[in-house]
Amino acid sequence: MALALLLDPLFKNHLTGQGHPEQPARYDAVTRALETAHLMENAVRVVPRPALDDELALVHTAPYIRFVRTELSALAGRPDAVGELSTGDVAFSEQTLDVALQAAGGVLSAVDALFRTEARTAFCAVRPPGHHATPGRGMGFCLFNNVALAARHAQRKHGVDRVLIIDWDVHHGNGTQDTFYSDGSVMFFSTHQHPWYPGTGMSGENGEGKGKGRILNSPLPAGSGGGEILAAFRERLLPAANAFRPALVIVSAGFDSRMGDPLGRFQLTDADFATMTGIAMEIAQRHAQGRVLSVLEGGYSLEGLSAGVTAHVRALHS
Ligand SMILES: [Zn+2]
Repeated sequence: MALALLLDPLFKNHLTGQGHPEQPARYDAVTRALETAHLMENAVRVVPRPALDDELALVHTAPYIRFVRTELSALAGRPDAVGELSTGDVAFSEQTLDVALQAAGGVLSAVDALFRTEARTAFCAVRPPGHHATPGRGMGFCLFNNVALAARHAQRKHGVDRVLIIDWDVHHGNGTQDTFYSDGSVMFFSTHQHPWYPGTGMSGENGEGKGKGRILNSPLPAGSGGGEILAAFRERLLPAANAFRPALVIVSAGFDSRMGDPLGRFQLTDADFATMTGIAMEIAQRHAQGRVLSVLEGGYSLEGLSAGVTAHVRALHS
């Protein structure tokens, strides 16, 4: 199956400060791993481009978009300085706004590639991550919700009706859940450590109104691994997805759920990431002509990130 890749060294230009786990070296770890595993050869290359304000507005509120532009312009002319959003929890540098816009826009171009090229699967090695960004607030290292924007873009531009988002990051994708909580056209499935940051994602949070039953949370205790997480994929995700029949499958691909991550206490192995990828592809092959869009979220051990991404992208390419 042809694979598309969104890669660009500009994703290293978002600086977060000494010792911050969401560091530019993550990008190099991912690309070196893909290169070593020969996964870049023959891939369709997606070129990043900035997301437009009307695209950001598919998910984010106008006041929030203005807030981000204003706050992130504070470091103009200070290329080495690092600041933090006044609402906390998101470090940024002079280039961060440009990088975040290129990440979001690049992910939208990757969606286009799935519908306009021979590629049926895509992996986007973007920074900053996105799944904690709600319509009106950046948090948890995230500014714009890349996967939520991708779902809306597929609906608007490619006539896709139903989209499934699978989030296997160790942290709950609260921003994605908030975006689609009462929507109904986007199903959100998440396995995550609980209790843990950001504190949301209890199993009773299952959507409201048209979204009732379309939000599927599997909170699991620290120490959980392939046994518990793959069971949730097989017993909860598969039947729900087969009833929902998504026309596009999106993965919030966080690798902080891998064993040994400094920001998580899950025990997933590289083989587990391949298995979860296979389940996403099985759903997509049955309902979505094989279309799977994967977007990098967390993963803070550089070695673990390299190994997890390799297993995931190799499976996407199979
Ligand atoms: Zn995470």
